[in-house]
Amino acid sequence: MTEGQTNAAFTPRVFSGIQPSGGLTLGNYLGALKRFADSQDSGVQSVFCMVDMHAITVWQDPAKLRNATRELCAGFIASGVDPEKSILFNQSAVSGHAELAWVFNCVARMGWMQRMTQWKDKAGKNQQNASLGLFAYPALMAADILLYQATHVPVGEDQKQHVELTRDIAIKFNHDYGVDFFPVPEPVIEGTATRVMSLRDGSKKMSKSDPSDMSRINLTDDADTIAGKIRKARTDPDALPSEAEGLERRAEARNLVNIYAALNGQTQAEVLADVGGKQFSEFKPMLADLAVAKLSPISGEMARLMESPEEIDAILRRGADRAREIANPVMAKTLEIVGMVR
Ligand code: ATP
Ligand code: MG
Repeated sequence: MTEGQTNAAFTPRVFSGIQPSGGLTLGNYLGALKRFADSQDSGVQSVFCMVDMHAITVWQDPAKLRNATRELCAGFIASGVDPEKSILFNQSAVSGHAELAWVFNCVARMGWMQRMTQWKDKAGKNQQNASLGLFAYPALMAADILLYQATHVPVGEDQKQHVELTRDIAIKFNHDYGVDFFPVPEPVIEGTATRVMSLRDGSKKMSKSDPSDMSRINLTDDADTIAGKIRKARTDPDALPSEAEGLERRAEARNLVNIYAALNGQTQAEVLADVGGKQFSEFKPMLADLAVAKLSPISGEMARLMESPEEIDAILRRGADRAREIANPVMAKTLEIVGMVR
């Protein structure tokens, strides 16, 4: 019940989510999806969620949102997440997410939310006109994780701050109510591509919601599109260095090297030992070939799964049933703890 709380009393459980806010990117794949299949095989129960309620914090066309949710489910499965081993479902199908988020809106403080860099980035200069949901987003994310009493949250670097806020919410809830009810979850941020950057701007992360399609590689892009985007990716005029120090202050070059390393299962140093001295005119086609080789089986499998949307919906419904088995007792107990008449 204090900052020193350990999760020893909790069964280890993984939770992570992805928004159906557009098509999946290479960033989502390397930072999240690719690693989910590994965690599922570690023997720890994994819960993976298409967080459609997060997606509507910015305007979504309803028909496109429905399609993006199904395509996202296909992306999980094509990336190796097995809907029998893991629990795979969409957030809105389990009402506890929204219910627990309300309780956490009453635990989290305005100041905590105002510090969130995603809020500042996404609301930009137009905060007065952003949705209240976009501001409260981290409380819903805390609910997503804690509704399953999850102990580990595999995410990209950009979500670290939100997992830290989830920890603060768990600690404050446990403290305020004098319980040890929620675990204090750990962010799990691993690999050589925990923050894949935009192909147009090495200071901005690659995002599915970026207005420029040239800024990202979509998992559904065909080979020509991938090669074209990598060819046009912003770089500098110098050759590639042989050692990591040579990538300092070269964000775009570092990004392409990291993408190569992550796709090829190598470290940055191993890649530089091979490609040091090469010009981008030579390295970019190598990267394009590698990206096509790794991504085309995934996009092929996604396309195949998307031919049977009714099967995808059945998988999501079954996943939601399994998710509710964990979520409902946690939600009921939470309401009892906070003093609701049941
Ligand atoms: P949006 O632009 O709508 O926020 P997104 O591309 O940021 O979309 P999310 O659904 O917000 O995707 O995040 C899904 C997962 O992908 C999270 O674990 C997040 O940390 C990870 N992720 C997102 N972008 C990147 C990136 N550029 N590099 C590595 N991981 C990423
Ligand atoms: Mg995001």
